[in-house]
Amino acid sequence: MIATLITHPACHLHLMPEGHPECPERLDAINNQLLASGIDSLIYHRESPAATDEQLLRVHTHDYLQRLAQAQPDEGILRFADDIYLSPGTLTAARHAAGAGILGVDMVMRGETDAVFCNVRPAGHHAESAKAMGFCIFNNVAIAAAHALAAHHLERIAIVDFDVHHGNGTQEIFRHEPRVLFCSSFQHPFYPLTPIDNVPDHIINIPLPATCRSEGFRAALTEHCLPALTRFQPQLLLISAGFDGHLDDDMSSIRLVEQDYVWITQQLRQLVDNSKNNPDVTQQCRGMVSLLEGGYDLPALGRCAMMHIKAMAKLS
Ligand SMILES: [Zn+2]
Repeated sequence: MIATLITHPACHLHLMPEGHPECPERLDAINNQLLASGIDSLIYHRESPAATDEQLLRVHTHDYLQRLAQAQPDEGILRFADDIYLSPGTLTAARHAAGAGILGVDMVMRGETDAVFCNVRPAGHHAESAKAMGFCIFNNVAIAAAHALAAHHLERIAIVDFDVHHGNGTQEIFRHEPRVLFCSSFQHPFYPLTPIDNVPDHIINIPLPATCRSEGFRAALTEHCLPALTRFQPQLLLISAGFDGHLDDDMSSIRLVEQDYVWITQQLRQLVDNSKNNPDVTQQCRGMVSLLEGGYDLPALGRCAMMHIKAMAKLS
């Protein structure tokens, strides 16, 4: 089945202060690598719709949406919280970022594709139900999962988050939702420093020491993440794909390389393929939808995302 890239030009409209690492050029770095590698012509391309209020309100509060709308400036860049900035196009960008995951889920559930990458910003996994954090406004992966629960009536959705930071927002949103298995690996102790202990069984936190490198990353996910996914038998796999654990990324210290992202993607792809062969249709996994989270060294981000998409699409 052919893989799909979902993005929208409006995702460039969210502006940050001059020189900030979370910049619109991140999207171009990925697109350029897809073109240079020849992958671009081998996948479907779709533009994301803007997420509706109904879709956002499945995970965010009405008050939070109102506060954002009231604060968004008509010109310039406004500091909304510690590391959250709003520009005139921010909420348009954020709605199209969230809409990408929703379209991805719909396409997978309709059987049109079984591997989707959403090249979008702002990212989502730090955003809590009523709080913007860590460059994140709307929690895109949580909105996609909530859509799969509400609109497609799925009973088991897994979210794998391999960004170098803990997906605190996704944890907060699904803390009381056992239909969503959340596996997050992250450098620890590190931003966001929100609590990771005393969580229910459907939340699997995998703290990684700053010195872990490839071997530690792969060993920890092999021990804690992959068996949990196999037991859970998700009907849909969502990925919070952050590439900020890369060796070249100033944001972290765990020193992963391109092949580590290929490795985890191949493991997840294999899980989906094994499930598709299950004769019991209720146990089958329909596919995977991956959403861009972090990744701030532009050349490394482009290479890692391209190789991640290539592995999801099983292109050699
Ligand atoms: Zn991150």
